[in-house]
Amino acid sequence: MHQTSDSLWPFGRHDLPTGAALLNSPLLNKLTGFSEHERDNLRLRGLLPPRIFTMREQAERSLIQFRRKNSALEKYVFLTMLQNRNETLFYRLLLDHIEEMMPIIYTPTVGEACLEYSSIFRHPRGLWISIRDKGRVAEVLRNWTNHDARIIVVTDGERILGLGDLGALGMGIPIGKLALYTACAGIHPYYCLPICLDVGTDNEKLLSDPLYIGLQQQRVRGAAYDEFIEEFMQAMKLVFPKALVQFEDFGNNNAFTLLHRYQDKACCFNDDIQGTAAVALAGLISATRLTGRPLREQTLLFFGAGEAGTGIGEYFVHALMEEGVPAAEARRRCWFVDSKGLLVRERGGQLPPHKAAFVQDGKFVRTFAEAVEQVKPTAIIGVAGVGPAFTPDILRRMAALNPRPIIFALSNPTSKAECTAAEAYAATDGRCVFASGSPFAPVEYHGKTHVPGQGNNVYIFPGVGLGALASQATTVTDAMFLAAARTLAAQVTEDDLAHGLIYPHLNLIRSISMQIAVSVATEAYQRGLARRPQPKDLVADIKAQVFEPVYQDYLPLP
Ligand code: NAD
Repeated sequence: MHQTSDSLWPFGRHDLPTGAALLNSPLLNKLTGFSEHERDNLRLRGLLPPRIFTMREQAERSLIQFRRKNSALEKYVFLTMLQNRNETLFYRLLLDHIEEMMPIIYTPTVGEACLEYSSIFRHPRGLWISIRDKGRVAEVLRNWTNHDARIIVVTDGERILGLGDLGALGMGIPIGKLALYTACAGIHPYYCLPICLDVGTDNEKLLSDPLYIGLQQQRVRGAAYDEFIEEFMQAMKLVFPKALVQFEDFGNNNAFTLLHRYQDKACCFNDDIQGTAAVALAGLISATRLTGRPLREQTLLFFGAGEAGTGIGEYFVHALMEEGVPAAEARRRCWFVDSKGLLVRERGGQLPPHKAAFVQDGKFVRTFAEAVEQVKPTAIIGVAGVGPAFTPDILRRMAALNPRPIIFALSNPTSKAECTAAEAYAATDGRCVFASGSPFAPVEYHGKTHVPGQGNNVYIFPGVGLGALASQATTVTDAMFLAAARTLAAQVTEDDLAHGLIYPHLNLIRSISMQIAVSVATEAYQRGLARRPQPKDLVADIKAQVFEPVYQDYLPLP
């Protein structure tokens, strides 16, 4: 095994356990893949059946077992168990079948897995830090199996996907996201730490469930919550000083508050706000290549003004400003409808800061259809999470207003999408540029196959994480996400566009993440935010830090 100082490959030979301890180390285990020589010298003889298999053969067997499972949840459990036994094989399988397996380890199946977490719970992974650990969070962090966690995905379980407050069951989300960091960007699993902060739950169903694995109390809020998070962030700096913290699936108010409080003080970001915004911006940039209308001429109307919607709005404004459009003018191109109607001054009332930034001068109207009439948008973006709001009438109106209307139905899961891909193409004579949050199959319309884009955050966050880790950035800035968005958009080929695709193919995800990592690290070095000296060859430097799921030869021992 090799070890380069400061690289993202963690092991030295001195770490190597032997015998049963080696078979119980998922990061090092090869199962039937250990060679004769290794079996003899690492005290494995007799602990494994005699035949030796190559990793390719093992992966083939695992794939057959995976495909034999009858439900998505069983497939999820199978992959989780494989991850707990042999991570190298798990990542080989995942990377080679990313389009088939991503919907299992992440949305939509991960949502079902979180709901069932109490009953499918077999083996703990990650750290649960409960409000009862207040005062000794650093001590709990030190219980983690290694002392060099570098990428931490943390949730408090309050808003898990579109499923609401799942308390401690939310742990499935950080685990799934970190698996994507490794599969899609090659961050070594050794450095990945999933954390669930358990501050209670307000979900009555869970509170009365005898199998619920979390604290059986109402959520702690206010000053006690803030103090707990502050202690967590301080302890992180102390115990894992090189770590990047990704906030994930926090409730709307906490998500914005925590991001604003820590964004400039710690190496952290919020994927629901910034990752979503970057992936949607990349989609809009690609869409302009299809519509022939530049970004500065787009007018966006959002259905939903929460983390996703206002995050996208902010990055759209940033992008226009980068192109020389004054801030006020850029903001005038973003309109929002929330649960009460169009966000206009005339409406009055108190608004949280993320919404107040987008209040427009206009007539107050209650419905989305009326808002379309007033705003005459070039793009409508659905992020309310309440289901089919883009009716055929609204879609037809968009087609009347624009030669190529942009329709993004980003709400998850599929049942919450504002419209389906087929509905969007049918109502717009196949002229719309469509993207969704959940995957939709290609649509045949009047003899042409349209391939709907999926604005999946996985296009952005693994590459951003890799770039930030490789440069050891002190903070993760909005400029890094904007660079990531432009880099992602630049990967879309003319051939992709010819099929209506505004995102590149997912099977290119490793190379996409690498390009994004380079753009993010470049930003870190240029702005003086990197804690590592700038390498001569940045691409080679990042490549050297990437984990490939292949077995290392553990012998000869020193
Ligand atoms: P959020 O709770 O922060 O925001 C939801 C917003 O919708 C709020 O502004 C709320 O006022 C508004 N809303 C609720 N009911 C409404 C109604 N009847 N009419 C109009 N507006 C209404 O949630 P979020 O994090 O912004 O996520 C919203 C949706 O976006 C979810 O379905 C989520 O799955 C999806 N999302 C998709 C992606 C992606 O595609 N990459 C990423 C993140 C979020």
